[in-house]
Amino acid sequence: MNENEYLQQVANLAGLRHYPQQGPWSKKSGSAVGTRDNYVTAIGFSHNRQGASLVILLRFKKLEQPELVKSALKSAAIKKGKLGAVGNNFLRWDWKYSFTKPKAEEVAKLAEDLRTAIKPVTTAFDGRCEQCASTSTQSLTLLNGMPMFICATCQDKVRHELNQAAVNYEAITPNYPNGLVLGLGAAAVGGLAWGLVAYAINYIFLYGAILIGYFVAAGVLKGTGKVTRLGQIIIPLLTIASVLFGDSIFYTLIVMKEEHVAFSSRLLNAVVVHLWQIEIQGSGVLSLLFALVGAGYALYAARKPKFQAVFQPLGAPNS
Ligand SMILES: [Zn+2]
Repeated sequence: MNENEYLQQVANLAGLRHYPQQGPWSKKSGSAVGTRDNYVTAIGFSHNRQGASLVILLRFKKLEQPELVKSALKSAAIKKGKLGAVGNNFLRWDWKYSFTKPKAEEVAKLAEDLRTAIKPVTTAFDGRCEQCASTSTQSLTLLNGMPMFICATCQDKVRHELNQAAVNYEAITPNYPNGLVLGLGAAAVGGLAWGLVAYAINYIFLYGAILIGYFVAAGVLKGTGKVTRLGQIIIPLLTIASVLFGDSIFYTLIVMKEEHVAFSSRLLNAVVVHLWQIEIQGSGVLSLLFALVGAGYALYAARKPKFQAVFQPLGAPNS
């Protein structure tokens, strides 16, 4: 049974409706969404590096102490899956599986058990907008995929606030000197660590370059205060420089060990000057490649934050 058919079946058993291509998770199979006892319920599939999970999301009225939800679930001692996250108006339950999906009947039962467990400590929705708590709001709207009760006025407000956030972000004047100083610092420390670790384990590893990329990106962004085109150029350059610096440290340490000489700036200098010859003989090309991957990751991490609220009525994926 494919995910679409499966979610259709879960929806029928759990008293929800299946909406292909909609909901908080996997776009293709969509999710089973609806309200039961006025608790918003969404069930779908989440695929990440750790594997596949069936995810149940329950939403309730905003509350002061989300810890109460946690302890209520703990004392309910539910055996299938485990608690993923609790917020002040939602809980996420993850059921990891490999190969065979959990039985649809068990999933429907689980959604019910979860609801029963949190009922004493939460309040269900009451047909009003959950934002302003006044306007009558009968149908669910998806906000960036998340089903909620939100009236038209509050939707406009959210849109306006996000626009304002985007305007404020544009208004930040980037501090390049600061970005460069912090970026250089991160590159130097990262390169040194890379060289020392490579020497210690006698092996250059990919994650090191990726870590350096992240580290440099974080330094530059903290300094400049925002993502800019220039920052996006500086970050990969510093990442590559950092890895090359690390390689110089690595080869200097190797020379010191093999030739039984003490560290000197002349030695380091000699290595730096001949780094390219050394690199093409050893695994240098590989570490440059790693550095580029690291820079790629860094750039991905340093992309502009999204200030966007997409509201979508349930059952109309293309509107
Ligand atoms: Zn409202």
